[in-house]
Amino acid sequence: MNARAPRVYSTQAIVIGQREFVEAAKIITILTPDIGKQDSVAKGILKPKSRLAGHLEPGTYCDLELAVGKNLDIIREAQTISRFRASQQNLMRLTTLVYVLELVDKYTVDGTGSDLFEPLLVTLKRLDIGENLSAVVHGFELMLLEITGFRPSLNQCVNCLSDVNSVQANWSQDGGGIVCGQCVSLVPNTSLIEPKVLKVLRAYQSWPYEESARITIDSYLEAQLSKIMHGLMKAFAERDIKSADLLEEVSWRKELPEGRVIS
Ligand SMILES: [Zn+2]
Repeated sequence: MNARAPRVYSTQAIVIGQREFVEAAKIITILTPDIGKQDSVAKGILKPKSRLAGHLEPGTYCDLELAVGKNLDIIREAQTISRFRASQQNLMRLTTLVYVLELVDKYTVDGTGSDLFEPLLVTLKRLDIGENLSAVVHGFELMLLEITGFRPSLNQCVNCLSDVNSVQANWSQDGGGIVCGQCVSLVPNTSLIEPKVLKVLRAYQSWPYEESARITIDSYLEAQLSKIMHGLMKAFAERDIKSADLLEEVSWRKELPEGRVIS
């Protein structure tokens, strides 16, 4: 019997990353709504006339047609739906986009993460229209932790599970949440968390986005939020998140208005 034609399927995808492969091919890491994260091969993408070129850059939202391969599936057609151009043209938003993609990559393995597709797509759209960056990025971090089973405990003590008032809370990065006054001597490596920082994190975790995005964040507060969340994202991933450091360097906090937050 002759070899059968390869099985072909279509899917929407967000390109998470790419790397060099043999000859003019690249391996493209994509996130899809059905399969989740997977590596696929883009043959000939480095050739000048490749139809795939330009449609598979990291952060691109696209329609793909793939053929099932022996090891990796082969991308046969790619059509950009959105490249989120505004994000590409602003250093702060571009760095945030790179960070968000890296988070998805670090918190998934092949064949998982299909439930991150929609939240990621929504986040890339919000980033592109320049919405409140603090609410967009920290809201995404907290949702990612929730979906992947790492929901931080922002209302109950991680040690005794009692409800903790924001004024009396301590922070445990390793424990993944807050520690009450009674337990603080029992839990190693705790630090202080300011009440307003905890209040904003609670809002980002549990309020509807439209409401939490209305909170005014000043530069000092954003520095505290970023420090806590970057530390948490690295600790749970159990590896470095390089773009988190980059994000702190770009320091969008300086662009934020001076203002106070919810009391
Ligand atoms: Zn406790």
